[in-house]
Amino acid sequence: MVNPATVNNANKDLLNSKLQKSGQCLNHKEKLEVLADIAKSFKEIKLDFSGGDPLLLKKDLEVIKLASDYFGAKNIELSVTGACITEELLDFLKDKVSEIDFTLDTLYPRLESTREAEYSKASIRAIKLTCSKNIPVTVATVLKKDNLSKENINELYKFLEENSVQNWFLLRFRPVGRGAKFKFLEPSENEYKAVLEYCLKLGKEGSVKVTLHHTFYDLMGIEKKDRACKIGNKLIILADGTVLSCGWAFNSLGRPLNDEFALGKLPEDKLKDILNSVKINSIKKYPACRVDYFLNNR
Ligand code: SF4
Repeated sequence: MVNPATVNNANKDLLNSKLQKSGQCLNHKEKLEVLADIAKSFKEIKLDFSGGDPLLLKKDLEVIKLASDYFGAKNIELSVTGACITEELLDFLKDKVSEIDFTLDTLYPRLESTREAEYSKASIRAIKLTCSKNIPVTVATVLKKDNLSKENINELYKFLEENSVQNWFLLRFRPVGRGAKFKFLEPSENEYKAVLEYCLKLGKEGSVKVTLHHTFYDLMGIEKKDRACKIGNKLIILADGTVLSCGWAFNSLGRPLNDEFALGKLPEDKLKDILNSVKINSIKKYPACRVDYFLNNR
């Protein structure tokens, strides 16, 4: 998928076709093949289209519609940047998805340290518009050293309440992929614990539910690391069809962290074979969290 922050309207199709020709992105026919393969392999499955931005290219809307026809709107989620959200698009999506997820780390542009300057502005506009259409919204916040202040957390929670957001999803900051150069923003476990306790308290007292990423479960006494790990329950399909067993297993080039996490490549490989291969579980011989194990030796 192409990121709207790095491409303008005039050249997005051209850029996408270049990416397809160079093998970095599946073409439309291949995307439909992958979808058909998924439908053959699972009667029911939840799909989350994320990016870049899965709403950037008109053709990809056909893929989302087809996925909704295959699996039902209740099983389709979108994780988007906010840049492409319009009223017309939301009217199209309303009966095809169960919720739309946006990332918002701060309401203060000066704290937008790891993304483009316009990112939070686009998210704020899109969250307001999507909520006004009564489409369920989850807002994900990546906790980083620079957005843990009570001032930021309180402002965020107030904004979510005012707009009737359903769910606030708190994520760990992983200096992987694009974020590798921001390792200095990674909070300590004590910092995470303190801010999560505060956010959970807000969630208990307020109207917006607060949920935590599974990599916080052990820290917060919810579930041991091994049980919380999603490997085996979730698959990630990258833009070029590469299948990964974990959505965090990326190196600084945005490619699989190592071969242990890479399960195959669609549509050349069949999903049935990937699901039946020993590789899908062999990563479990390493201690959870497996990404932490390889990245940070912990
Ligand atoms: S390896 Fe780590 S990040 Fe990946 S699913 Fe398991 S716990 Fe989550």
